[in-house]
Amino acid sequence: MADCPLCLPSPPDRVLWSDAQARVILVDQSREQHVFPGFCRVIWTDHTQEMSDLNVSERYHLMDLVLDVEQVLRTVLQPDKINLASLGNVVPHLHWHIIPRWQDDSHFPDAIWATPPTGKPATNSAIIQARLALVSRIQPELVKQRLKRQAARTPIC
Ligand SMILES: [Zn+2]
Repeated sequence: MADCPLCLPSPPDRVLWSDAQARVILVDQSREQHVFPGFCRVIWTDHTQEMSDLNVSERYHLMDLVLDVEQVLRTVLQPDKINLASLGNVVPHLHWHIIPRWQDDSHFPDAIWATPPTGKPATNSAIIQARLALVSRIQPELVKQRLKRQAARTPIC
């Protein structure tokens, strides 16, 4: 759809992995007040609105990808929690948010879109920088994870 921001790749979001059906991006947070290191989004390529619009193999493909991203974020960043969210109220094009969360982050234990809890001290900036420094490891780990999954599905002759 011409007016849909998810139908086309949207720089400056960085594509970490893609195939014909979906892409994984590292969300650009450079203009955000609150940063969540490693915040990724899995975006279905076709302009599809709901999960139940996908056929069974597409559903598996999408959720495998979401869970691979989740696993990689856990391995690389070791957050206290991962938040998975598929809302699409603003942009009704199927996508999942995969958000590493820490108890010391600005919004914990609320959703990142909520008003941050009042009186919570800001996360130590050195800690945020240390987490951001690990973000570059997400892409190679994700590629490795996807290859492992592909190999597991390839019949051995
Ligand atoms: Zn779209």
